[in-house]
Amino acid sequence: MRPIVIAHRGASGYLPEHTLPAKALAYAMGADYLEQDVVATRDDALVVLHDVYLDRVTDVARHYPDRRRRDGRYYVRDFELRELKTLSVHERSNADGSPVYPGRFSSTDETFRIQTFAEELEFVRSLQAGHGRAVGIYPEIKRPEWHRSEGVDITPRFLGVLADFGYKKRSDPVYVQCFDARELRRIRHELGCRLKLIQLIGEDSWGESSAHYAPLRARRGLERLARTVDGIGPWIRRAYRVARRSGEIHPTGLVQRAHKAGLAVHPYTLRADELPEGFASFDALLTFFVDELVVDGLFTDFPDKVVRFLRRISV
Ligand code: CA
Repeated sequence: MRPIVIAHRGASGYLPEHTLPAKALAYAMGADYLEQDVVATRDDALVVLHDVYLDRVTDVARHYPDRRRRDGRYYVRDFELRELKTLSVHERSNADGSPVYPGRFSSTDETFRIQTFAEELEFVRSLQAGHGRAVGIYPEIKRPEWHRSEGVDITPRFLGVLADFGYKKRSDPVYVQCFDARELRRIRHELGCRLKLIQLIGEDSWGESSAHYAPLRARRGLERLARTVDGIGPWIRRAYRVARRSGEIHPTGLVQRAHKAGLAVHPYTLRADELPEGFASFDALLTFFVDELVVDGLFTDFPDKVVRFLRRISV
């Protein structure tokens, strides 16, 4: 079956991540799912941002220079929604202000804003009402453990917003994703959520949760995951290895093991402007993941390129 195209933070290869224009563009490009990352403000509003920090994608330092924490970062959790609404969102930058992806959208003349999770779902609803093409959503609960330590239980609020918009059943066009395996078990077995769930699998060093990911990639770990979730979202680098001498690409067996355990596999993130080790072109990367690994979905910053590729190989 044709893999689903998940617009990673929107069409983030072209417009600042997680802005509504980036979501609209991804929709127009034919993405099957639009991704949301969800974090909580001081007044417990849920907003769509990738990090619990504001400093790499907004002008927060200019507006609120004295609101950084001791680690020098500005936290979403320290601001009220009305304050976040005054900020401008820009293309992601490094700590020194240089762009993370130098070839991407560089103009600073436009004003992009932060929206709440509910505002984005309303926007997605309106897009579909206007144009007719259905599109799914692919929201992620960001760092639930950290949020609890900050005094907010983000998950029930997150699921509440989804329910408000009618996302309740397994057949609804939504995947809920999280790096935190314990939280996913809670969502499925304690909170009774019936939506499709995706276990994200990262690297322990990223600090996304206190989970250890290596056991989750093993056969037993995947079989155990299958009791709770519908699929996994592994880092693309864990799906293949590059032979040291020949440079040949070989599957690690992760995708096959996951499929055997009954899990869908949606690897992240395919970027045309940041090819991973071992691939000479975006097409080569897509060919490997689609034709050889036969994944069920792909997170990409460039939904248009993936949609075009899939159209091309289907004829
Ligand atoms: Ca995400």
